[in-house]
Amino acid sequence: MKIDGLTKTCGLIGNPVEHTLSPVIHNALAELTGKNLVYVPFHVKENLTGAVAGAYALSVQGLNVTVPYKEQVLPALAAIDDLAAKIGAVNTLVRGPEGYIGYNTDMPGLYRAMQSDGVHVDGEEVIILGAGGVARAVAVMLYDKAARIYILNRTVEKAAVIAKEVNGYAGREVAIAMTLSEHGMLPDKKYIVIQATNVGMYPDTNKAVVEDETFYARVSTGYDLIYNPAKTLFMQKVEQAGGKAYNGLKMLLYQGIIAYELWNDCEIPEDMAEQVYTRLRESL
Ligand code: NAP
Repeated sequence: MKIDGLTKTCGLIGNPVEHTLSPVIHNALAELTGKNLVYVPFHVKENLTGAVAGAYALSVQGLNVTVPYKEQVLPALAAIDDLAAKIGAVNTLVRGPEGYIGYNTDMPGLYRAMQSDGVHVDGEEVIILGAGGVARAVAVMLYDKAARIYILNRTVEKAAVIAKEVNGYAGREVAIAMTLSEHGMLPDKKYIVIQATNVGMYPDTNKAVVEDETFYARVSTGYDLIYNPAKTLFMQKVEQAGGKAYNGLKMLLYQGIIAYELWNDCEIPEDMAEQVYTRLRESL
């Protein structure tokens, strides 16, 4: 990597940031596309507004935003893209003339990852496990594609808020909120299940958010948004019951690629995405 007076800077703001894989994605993309750009983590422990204003003043070209700032950063932005406004959270800031503009690439990232894996949600019955920030983005992605969305969460009230909101967008009762323990009441069909809780994530790898084996008999495809470990207990249970299972590493890849495309006004071809994916897998 050659750094000189013309090198542009992009980065990640969050707390903590030590375990991020985003530098792998963006520095690989800079190398492969021949851009004079470096991507670094910025640990923002306090004063988020000051950090965003400071990055803008320092001509930082673009930023990713991670936990816990995806919602908190909104007031510090000059504008918010329509989709990000619907989701209520941003993970990517793009330099505009008067400040940063907020985007959400998690959701289109997941959609592109699913397309790449040959998982098509259009017209399907889909279960979302979880009702946190990412589950909400997934529900917004699905409301005009899926036939029906069941949002199952430990805290059912949070699932109900998301269901109400996406039903409003859809103009129909597309989403239904349930508690996790009510899964036995689901209509007897096959489902695409998107696992959007943090249960099963390293180091608690011996846990799945639903343990009951009868649930897995109904899963045609299980998509776990966790990528560490590469095969979660949820994925193992899906496969043992005869379904197909995927982890969240491709979502991570494509949310990064879409951010890079926004920052550099370019399109990353699939063969390049594959090369970055290989590097991501190696760095896990
Ligand atoms: P979040 O807002 O904190 O939401 C966490 C969700 O997990 C909530 O629904 C919570 O339920 C549920 N949960 C936590 N502990 C639980 C337990 N012991 N039993 C049952 N449910 C439990 O988190 P998030 O930002 O949405 O992230 C969710 C997952 O997505 C994380 O695993 C994260 O790694 C993954 N993710 C992946 C990518 C990617 O690119 N692949 C990107 C972003 C996030 P309650 O509402 O009841 O608390």
